Amino acid sequence: MNTQEIIRLVVGLYLVATLVVFARFVSQKIAFVRHGRPESRADHIGRRIALFFIEVLGQTKVRRRLTAGWAHALVFWGFLAFVVSTLNLLERLALGGQGFLVGPVSWFPTVVDIFAWAIIVGCVVLAVRRYVVRPQYLTYHSHESGIVLAAIAVIAATHLGEQYAAGAASEYFGYAHLVVAFTFLAYVPTSKHFHILGAPFSTVLQQLQDHQKMDYMDLEMELDESKGEAYGFNRLEHFGWPDRMDLLTCIECGRCQEACPAYATGKLLSPRDFIVDLKYHAEGKVPHGKQSAVAREAFVAAGGSVEGVPTESQPLIDHVIAQQTLWECTTCMACVQACPVDIDHLSMLLNMRRYQVLDVGEIEPEYQRVFTSMERTGDPWGYGEHRKSETLGQLGEVPVAEPGEEFDVLFWVGCWGLYDDRSIESTSATLKVLRHFDVDFRILGDTEVCCGENYRRMGNELQFQMNAQTNMELFGAVKFKRLVVTNPHCHQVFGKDYKDFVPEDWGGTPFEVVSVEQLVHELVARKGLPGGSDLGKVAYHDSCFYGRYNGIYNEQRALVKASGGQVVELKRNREHAFCCGAGGGNFWREEKEPRVSWNRAAEIMESGAPTLAVSCPFCLAMLEDGLKVQEGYEEHPVQVRHVVEIVAGAIPDPAGAEAAAD
Ligand code: SF4
Ligand code: SF4
Repeated sequence: MNTQEIIRLVVGLYLVATLVVFARFVSQKIAFVRHGRPESRADHIGRRIALFFIEVLGQTKVRRRLTAGWAHALVFWGFLAFVVSTLNLLERLALGGQGFLVGPVSWFPTVVDIFAWAIIVGCVVLAVRRYVVRPQYLTYHSHESGIVLAAIAVIAATHLGEQYAAGAASEYFGYAHLVVAFTFLAYVPTSKHFHILGAPFSTVLQQLQDHQKMDYMDLEMELDESKGEAYGFNRLEHFGWPDRMDLLTCIECGRCQEACPAYATGKLLSPRDFIVDLKYHAEGKVPHGKQSAVAREAFVAAGGSVEGVPTESQPLIDHVIAQQTLWECTTCMACVQACPVDIDHLSMLLNMRRYQVLDVGEIEPEYQRVFTSMERTGDPWGYGEHRKSETLGQLGEVPVAEPGEEFDVLFWVGCWGLYDDRSIESTSATLKVLRHFDVDFRILGDTEVCCGENYRRMGNELQFQMNAQTNMELFGAVKFKRLVVTNPHCHQVFGKDYKDFVPEDWGGTPFEVVSVEQLVHELVARKGLPGGSDLGKVAYHDSCFYGRYNGIYNEQRALVKASGGQVVELKRNREHAFCCGAGGGNFWREEKEPRVSWNRAAEIMESGAPTLAVSCPFCLAMLEDGLKVQEGYEEHPVQVRHVVEIVAGAIPDPAGAEAAAD
């Protein structure tokens, strides 16, 4: 055997060993994912294929960040090119062939050369950012990133060496390239860089049906407690396989944390730590984030022990995840939207809330008060049924649907529109607009029951399902084409979550759910507005549930403009808008200061607009309060108005209408 043959044999054996290690670790990961609860992701095949080409190959979500995004994308594309060129090198050096990149594809190595340079530059940019600039959201466990960046840069450099060095040196660079590339391959599944393999799957297999619809829960199902079965999540074994895949895919980039309103206002919750700490726990490591330390303290204080309990069966809440963080989430979805690998933090977090409420029955006292009010009086404030009748009396002549009646629009007034003094003004404005455009509408009157969105996201599935069933019966008693709402939370549940409660013989939801802004926007486009006075600058705050949850951004802005306002964009707008702080039941809690609404209100003050338009009663209440504590508010007050109130202001009062209302 000559030296060349010995080198070839040693390298060949090493490569086989790395492949065995790679296969072993990957099969462990696959087994971990397969252990999850079954869920189907075999729908929307066309969209999933499109996601593969656009998001995975095109790296569109990653490239939303200019410098780091493009650097990552370059490294990714370079990697794909390297897979081909490394296989070519393998055939030439390890197997003694001629390589397959010859003839009509002999230009390909030159493309790889260009990528190799781009990768080296990309790695330097990413290393400077991670170790010199050190943005706060990137501080998690970063030594792995250093190893990976160095390995990628060496793979690129050895490729260039093999291409441009002469004689034996070129060959040695080639062997070095193969050894480093295959070592890297074996390392990937043991590190956070498993996302290189996992991210395409979590992107393509993400939930596409009715974005952020919460999964149906069969409350009649018999639980086998001896097997640890539960309604919600408190053990890894409760998670569905897509959740478990998400945990493995997290790249610890911190984009979710950066977008999180709870984290931005100093709460314990960080969506990055939520995912990373669960991932570390799944890997048998001790998480080292701040919240996990609080969780462990709580576990020890409660006398908990996991001695001899397999990781899969160990409790998560107040052991790995601090319960406090679950309630701090405003369900704004900014984390899900920001995540470059499409991890769904919310579905896991909300299922943990369900566990606390349904399986343990341990609920924050402020939430318990809301649940008790709902049970006793039918509304979250605890006002009582009489309040609905008082409001209806105050609204004057409003057509109430009779059983069996057919009409175009059912106006869902909602608990805010029926119970809250400020939002009753939005109800009056909606009635004025509907009348002005001669819409054939009805309301349900005092039979309406809260849509239940808040209860569902607060973990009280039982209350939600009771309300959903009652409302479906009410809807079934009349016939209408559109359900119009003034609250994006009602829009989300009626349009998505209620689908699980549609009786089978209806053959699907027989009506369309639209926001009042969508309906009025159509009417204004067809019939125009009489025209209002010049409203000056009007800032618009996107609600999370219309915006990120449902992609409704334009109609509200168009209506403000049509009503005489000059729309001012806040710094964080549309899908990047900052939450008001009310969602997920947080409206009902005494929030730790500084409040989320203060953060948003400061931005509104900065805009200099004297009017703020909103499309959600929660946002209206939160931001009105948040603005009042801002510096300079006394001198420059901001009037907060629902968009429908702004439209109503552009419509002259019909003669005698006020008298009738009195
Ligand atoms: S949904 Fe919003 S508040 Fe909750 S973790 Fe995600 S970003 Fe934070
Ligand atoms: S969950 Fe997504 S956004 Fe958050 S750290 Fe992980 S990969 Fe980044």
